[in-house]
Amino acid sequence: MSEYQVLLYYKYVEIENPEQYRSEHMQLCKDLNLKGRILVSDEGLNGTVSGTIEETEKYMETMHADERFSDMMFKIDPSEGHAFKKLHVRYRPEIVSLQLGEEDIDPNRLTGTYLEPEEFRKALEDENTIVLDARNDYEYDLGHFRGAIRPDIRNFRELPDWIKENKEKFMDKRVVTYCTGGVRCEKFSGWLLKEGFEDVAQLHGGIHNYGTNPNTQGELWDGKMYVFDERISVDINRKEKTVIARDWFDGTPCERYVNCGNPFCNRQIIASEENEHKYLRGCTHDCRISPENRYVVEHHLSREEVAERLALIGEKFPETV
Ligand SMILES: [Zn+2]
Repeated sequence: MSEYQVLLYYKYVEIENPEQYRSEHMQLCKDLNLKGRILVSDEGLNGTVSGTIEETEKYMETMHADERFSDMMFKIDPSEGHAFKKLHVRYRPEIVSLQLGEEDIDPNRLTGTYLEPEEFRKALEDENTIVLDARNDYEYDLGHFRGAIRPDIRNFRELPDWIKENKEKFMDKRVVTYCTGGVRCEKFSGWLLKEGFEDVAQLHGGIHNYGTNPNTQGELWDGKMYVFDERISVDINRKEKTVIARDWFDGTPCERYVNCGNPFCNRQIIASEENEHKYLRGCTHDCRISPENRYVVEHHLSREEVAERLALIGEKFPETV
């Protein structure tokens, strides 16, 4: 039996003096030996932490005793140990970075209808419903709901612009959105309503809640779910296991994530160990030859050795570098 747990949670609620609350909250987490990342804002709180069962239970109890967070939903995963190296409790203007500025949404005033996992399961099979993945492209690529639409974005805050460009495709349909734990959809679905979409719903509690629901058992989810901690990914579908992620370099099935070796790129790519070595962990030729390439630095490769590796994949250093 695992002795640790990972908690995932958020709450949109007005927090007065968020800076002061941030330092109090930091102290609470330190006292409980929790590790993880928590964002505190005037608009609420968004966090994921790991700790022993006892300490995480105490944390949930403490939070539920605060009337602002009395109904906060905690999504819980068993874990073999901590899923984070450190504890960060930070102030941010928003608890999810959608950067809507003037158009910002208060989900307590405007948000899409909540669908429980069983209802969402039906929506996945309904022809007149568009299911929209409200996450980043690299999250989708590792795993997603069958038939869900993948917005062509590298970052969540690019989503509103992508919707504006593709509006005609979805306008007359029912739109259902989902994300990891639900926090992004609260705002995004509200924004869709504001944009004029009439029938908008969201998966309550996100993919996580769907995967742990005894009735759905994560059905119709393909691949794995990307998570923002050291586990990198977790299983969702408990009925059927599929691998949908593909190696960045050769397109073969693979679920291993690395960051591009070029620190100025840092793109998250799926790559086998073999291809990581072969392509010097660089997602493009320019990233491979970057003087800062971490793979080259870590392996103490000389210029000649890099040139030899490049030759094997039909590339060479440009004359001017
Ligand atoms: Zn790169």
